[in-house]
Amino acid sequence: MLKYDKLEKIGEGTYGTVFKARSKDSGEVVALKRVKLDDDDEGVPSSALREICILRELKHRNVVRLYDVVHSENKLTLVFEYCDQDLKKFFDSLNGYIDQQVARSLMMQLLRGLSFCHAHHVLHRDLKPQNLLINTNGSLKLADFGLARAFGIPVRCYSAEVVTLWYRPPDVLFGGKLYNTSIDMWSAGCIFAEISNAGRPLFPGADVDDQLKRIFRQLGTPTEDSWPSLTQLPDYKPYPLYHPALTWGQVVPNLSSKGRDLLQKFLMCNPTGRIDAESALRHPYFTDVNDA
Ligand code: ADP
Ligand code: MG
Repeated sequence: MLKYDKLEKIGEGTYGTVFKARSKDSGEVVALKRVKLDDDDEGVPSSALREICILRELKHRNVVRLYDVVHSENKLTLVFEYCDQDLKKFFDSLNGYIDQQVARSLMMQLLRGLSFCHAHHVLHRDLKPQNLLINTNGSLKLADFGLARAFGIPVRCYSAEVVTLWYRPPDVLFGGKLYNTSIDMWSAGCIFAEISNAGRPLFPGADVDDQLKRIFRQLGTPTEDSWPSLTQLPDYKPYPLYHPALTWGQVVPNLSSKGRDLLQKFLMCNPTGRIDAESALRHPYFTDVNDA
């Protein structure tokens, strides 16, 4: 039996149900995630267990700590550090306004967590506001890290909802399978724009086709010139040659010119051109702190 008392259900995520719970020993409040796996008969795959073991070693103040893993029959219970709320709920509390210093602090913490995980060869692959947790003291922590690798890239949520495509890069939307850190950097860019706009998503697509159209209408349709081997991607199909209709000043009006410059370095359709987390942290948006 688990040494925790369940307090309340906090979330229904991609891989399972999350409960707030209290340790019977220490009284510490934690988040318990019960992961239910598809092939019930097979039990928990050893590959998943191997990946989860790696995550227990990922200790950084901008990554939610995985304290413990309890494996019983075909279920896996992950015991995480508890946080006050996720970024999506934080957005809902903003009423359309965010202080740009707060926006910068959140983004810096996101990149520090990402940089740490990428340096340890762990990718997120499903970064979105629901997977970023924040505490009332303003600290931000990445959640759900590495789970995509352990359990597979989610297509549907545990609750049968379709997983959002809003934060997926065009290479993945075209069926690209060679994932590397660049997938997370695209998501970070989408989240950057959304934070600066106090929670208005940048590319809220309804399906893969609509998602790609929204991206290309803002960034221009990529070509073999800007992105060699684009047409070789498994699900590639041609799109009209859109030219950007809106300026970045119109899309992210609260962001400084340095912030807009950084944003564009995340949102490169060609994954090889995307900035990495470490370089992003050295960008003038973060280093010239007097810039409003
Ligand atoms: P899944 O991997 O199934 O998507 P998540 O870890 O994202 O599950 O959890 C679903 C929701 O539960 C999150 O969006 C968040 O609101 C809440 N949640 C998850 N982990 C924690 C935690 N450690 N502290 C507080 N809330 C959490
Ligand atoms: Mg999640």
